Formats: sequence, structure tokens, C-alpha cells
Amino acid sequence: MNALTQPLIRHDWTRAEVEALFALPFSDLMYQAQTLHRQFFNPNEVQVSTLCSIKTGACPEDCAYCPQSARYDTGLEREKLMAVEKVIEEAKAAKASGATRFCMGAAWRSPKGKDMPYVTSMVQGVKSLGLETCMTLGMLDEQQAQTLAEAGLDYYNHNLDTSPEFYGDIITTRTYEDRLNTLANVRNAGMKVCCGGIVGMGEEESDRAGLLLQLANMPEHPESVPVNMLVKVEGTPLADQADLDPFDFIRTIAVARILMPQSHVRLSAGREQMNDQMQAMAFLAGANSIFYGEKLLTTPNPEANKDMQLFKRLGIKPEAYEVHEDEEAQQAAITNQLQEAKLDQFFYKVAN
Ligand code: SF4
Repeated sequence: MNALTQPLIRHDWTRAEVEALFALPFSDLMYQAQTLHRQFFNPNEVQVSTLCSIKTGACPEDCAYCPQSARYDTGLEREKLMAVEKVIEEAKAAKASGATRFCMGAAWRSPKGKDMPYVTSMVQGVKSLGLETCMTLGMLDEQQAQTLAEAGLDYYNHNLDTSPEFYGDIITTRTYEDRLNTLANVRNAGMKVCCGGIVGMGEEESDRAGLLLQLANMPEHPESVPVNMLVKVEGTPLADQADLDPFDFIRTIAVARILMPQSHVRLSAGREQMNDQMQAMAFLAGANSIFYGEKLLTTPNPEANKDMQLFKRLGIKPEAYEVHEDEEAQQAAITNQLQEAKLDQFFYKVAN
């Protein structure tokens, strides 16, 4: 299987083709992924987003991996919907530390009518700071998608999580079809789609292939494809799940890169458990987006500064938001952050 000799953007992948990519020797797969990556992206740039949980816990859904489900006792403190002003403050702080996109997540099955004025105010406020906006609020109907798009929401995140075949082992309170409907509503409203899944939940390689096949054969590829590694949280049904071989995680990133060469593939939850070498290998496989900040919704995320130090060591620059109104200020913030990271490294060396 050589993806380099095929048309590059396709929506007609077969399961056999995707499974053949997974079966490639590791070096051949990495070579194909990196070669394609370089045709569409600067290989030394990574897009940086910050995630803010605007409403935490007490979710009625039963996603087996999720500490926010009300069905599992994970010790997570429930929080009400955050005040709009507080969200804007968080977004300002994210911007000051170099993020170009601010993602707001609420643990809901779907937003209620009474919530919509608040979330649209959040979108408008964050957008007025010159940041790209993204939300993940659960299922959306046509009208809700339209309202969010009109408020200026750039991206909507809604993951497929896994293959249609394995899905029922992970979630029973909403169907795969429900998820596809929400994604269609988001697209029809004109927003960009952020959609990926989670690996390491006990699925087979054919399920990882099945998930990527679903994403790659959508009429338009999601602009952003988060690939999450399961974070095992005590109290959830997947707390004792066996570890996934790290190379299988990297393979998933590489195949996602090959199937969706124009999309940003995001190294997402689970990064905390990855050492620097594994993250570097994920970038080499074609990952070019990360979440940065202290928390990834409710699971720990490597602290921002550590990320910047890794970027520095690898010669990676945060990707600028191209249509940013005051791009100069944004670039200055990013440069500042990099300099601080350099200083911290210096102090670390002196102290040792
Ligand atoms: S993943 Fe989302 S929908 Fe599922 S339980 Fe967690 S917060 Fe609720």
C-alpha cells in the first residue's frame, strides 16, 4: 500500500486499504505520513489550542471513559455553568500565553434552551479578543447549530469516539447515528468540524481502522482530528484497561495523517502519560496540533511551559492564526512564551 501514488485527498477509502496502512512496517508508514505531511503543512509548526471546561461533571450520558458522567463515582466536583465574564478572563489568559484557539467544553447531553444565550455570549466575547472559537456541548439540533454559527463559532467538536462496531461497548445513551446527525448539522450551519476519537479503550486495530475510515469518508474531512489516548480514571468502567502499545498509538496518528492530509491531527488527551520522545514521534507521524494549558477538561495536561520547552528542543514553532486581526501582538505573545521557556530551561540547568 503506497498512499503517495494515489490521489491525495480522497473520500472513498476502503477498509482493506486502511487496514493495509496499519499493517505497514513502522518505518514505511512513518515515511509515507511524513512525506504527505510536508506537502500540506510546515512540518515544524504546531497549532496550539487551549481548553476550558465551562460546565463540569453531572453529565447524564454513560461514556465508559469519562469522569464527568454522573453514573460513575470519580470524585470529580460538579460545577455549574461558568459565568460569561469568567470565561472571557480565561480566554484572555490563554491568548497571553500564546493560544490561537479557545475551546469551551460543557458536560451536557445537549444544550438546553436556557443555556443558549450564555454560550452565544461566550462565543461573541472570546471572538472579540481575536481568538478562534470552538465549543463542545454535546448533541446539537439544526437550530442550535445555526444559532452558534451566527454567534461566530468557528469550530464545533463532537467525536465519533471509535468504530461503529465497537461503539456499543463504550456508550449506550446515544447512538452513532445521533453523532453523525450532529456533525451534519454543524456542517450545514457552516461551521468547521473537530472530530476524532479515543484509542486504548480495549478496541482492536480493526476498530481504529474503522474509526478513521468513518472520518476519512465524510463528504468533507473534519478540519481538526483529535486522536486521544485513553486516560484511565478511577471509578470509570475503563479504569483498569490494559495499556495500548505506544507504537499502535503512533500508527493511528500516521494513518489519520495519510487519510486526511489537509486536516490538523491533534495530539489530545493522554499526552500527560507520553514522554517527550513519544510526543516527538507523534509530531513526526503528522500530528500538528495540541491542547495546552494546565488541564484538559478534567484530566491533567502537561503544563504549558513544559510544552514550550519541548517545542524549543524540537525546533517547533506554534502555528499563528492566519486571519488574526492583531497578529503582531499574537506573535509577540508566542515569542515571549518561547523566551520564558528558554529562561526556565536555563535556570533548570543552573540548579542542576
Ligand atoms: S464524554 Fe461528554 S457526553 Fe460522554 S459522559 Fe463525558 S461529558 Fe457526557
